[in-house]
Amino acid sequence: MLSATKTKKGYLRYGSQEMQHRRVWRKHFGPVPVGYFIHHIDGNKQNNSIENLKLVTAMEHKRIHSGCRMIDGAWWKRCKTCGKEKQIDKDFYTYYHIPGRGISMLCKKCTIRIVVQNKKNRRLSKLATEVKSPAAERIMDAYENAAKQKEG
Ligand SMILES: [Zn+2]
Ligand SMILES: [Zn+2]
Repeated sequence: MLSATKTKKGYLRYGSQEMQHRRVWRKHFGPVPVGYFIHHIDGNKQNNSIENLKLVTAMEHKRIHSGCRMIDGAWWKRCKTCGKEKQIDKDFYTYYHIPGRGISMLCKKCTIRIVVQNKKNRRLSKLATEVKSPAAERIMDAYENAAKQKEG
């Protein structure tokens, strides 16, 4: 009988072969289909009772572990900037066409606000370098101070 060891990520594994949760699931339902993952419903990677294991697609699994929630058939995610929980399909940009990228951290509204703000800042900085008037310099100073305050 092999004893279970803990992996770096906190899962239990038998020998060098099979993860314990995959093994438990397989004993109940058969082989795990290719492209699917076994997820721990309660978040405890060592709770490998069959009630705690759920078969999910790679996309679902990624979403669950990046803090998304499925409510009534729709996925929700909390925006890193405004802190509001919003629907992924409606209120977030997705980048599945770019390898290694998924859903934006910011909701659409926050993304747009930041893009507009950046454009405005660029315009101001261009104005200041072109005109070099005392008024433009005052605007730039004010902007830089505001930026510093935001950082610090
Ligand atoms: Zn999982
Ligand atoms: Zn937001």
